[in-house]
Amino acid sequence: MDLRVLFRPHRWKYVRKMDHPFGCVFCAAAENELSIDTLAIYKSKHTVILLNKYPYNSGHLLVVPKRHTGDYLGLSNEELLDLHGNVQRGIKALKDVYQPHGFNLGANLEKAAGAGLPDHLHFHIVPRYKGDLNFFPLIAETKVIPEAMDQCYAKLADYFRKLT
Ligand SMILES: [Zn+2]
Repeated sequence: MDLRVLFRPHRWKYVRKMDHPFGCVFCAAAENELSIDTLAIYKSKHTVILLNKYPYNSGHLLVVPKRHTGDYLGLSNEELLDLHGNVQRGIKALKDVYQPHGFNLGANLEKAAGAGLPDHLHFHIVPRYKGDLNFFPLIAETKVIPEAMDQCYAKLADYFRKLT
């Protein structure tokens, strides 16, 4: 099923920049400076936190190992600990910045499970609010995001800058 997101037109320029016909968008986020171009907002030794290009809600984060791998079981203990430490960090950031009522947290491993980019692991953190639709993007064909991506990026990037 296609997840179509209704972006406001002024946001389109940011979205276009994320289209990398060659190469992996998560590797690009890992290898480059933090920037709205890659939507990367925080990096640690082995992990990058970025905004999802196709957010379900404002603040929909992806937590990604820097290494290009789709093999969750192949992560080293150090990578695993760093990755999940950043999942926790992402949840804390969203709690502080957006005060959501809950979260969906998860990953789709392999194409059969619905992974859009199965070759590079990514954990979703989706802030949820009372009155949201009942379940995750899987059932939402179309969703209007109330906040522009650039505003969301600015808020969260600012939050993470203060952490370091
Ligand atoms: Zn990659």
